[in-house]
Amino acid sequence: MKKITIAIDGPAAAGKSTVAKLVAYQLDYNYIDTGAMYRALTLKALNNNIDVNDEDSLSNLLDNTTIEFHGNNVIFIDDVDKSKEIRSSIVTNNVSIVSKHKKVRLKMVELQRQLLTQGGVVIDGRDIGTYVCPEAELKIFQIATVESRAIRRFQEMQAKGINTSLEEVINDIKERDRLDSTREFAPLRKAHDAIEVDTTNMSIEQVVDKIVELAKERMI
Ligand code: C5P
Repeated sequence: MKKITIAIDGPAAAGKSTVAKLVAYQLDYNYIDTGAMYRALTLKALNNNIDVNDEDSLSNLLDNTTIEFHGNNVIFIDDVDKSKEIRSSIVTNNVSIVSKHKKVRLKMVELQRQLLTQGGVVIDGRDIGTYVCPEAELKIFQIATVESRAIRRFQEMQAKGINTSLEEVINDIKERDRLDSTREFAPLRKAHDAIEVDTTNMSIEQVVDKIVELAKERMI
């Protein structure tokens, strides 16, 4: 069977990474979480007191940073496991500013394309189907209403003991989507040949099954 690339794009908290990991597991593919890469740079910038609006300093910082995936859930920054820290609220609230800078994106995309050369990959993000890998054999644009996305994220945060309100989560998601879709370079967009999957009323299993089925059709 042919090894293909599966690109999953969509707005914040649409469940892309949960679905992408399960699809990768079922197909025995690798998973690349491009959001985690932008989060990694954001974390390092915050820890080094670098202004998230300072494009040149962020770009230099990225030149001096190693970002590596170890399996599908673990990310190392400069040889240290930072998988948990990159999910903190402060990183989430700053990552869309860091990722709007063209110099940062060009370098990140170079790293992502290197990872794609291995073949047999599920990769998720915002600009995968439109910019990082327009040649992907299967492109999914995963959406859901902002309320259903926020409820999912709110429940996850409560389970982790993070103190927040549903309203706050809704506002954060809306703001991240606004920044991601209005930035000048490689904004969040549905590729013209992407298949839109609205997960509002679907279970995770249903979404995974649908993507695996579409993938298998393209592997022949
Ligand atoms: O997917 P996740 O929510 O972890 O992504 C965090 C942020 O990284 C997004 O809100 C977006 O600002 C940025 N991002 C991006 N391009 C990608 C993946 C993520 O700009 N391909």
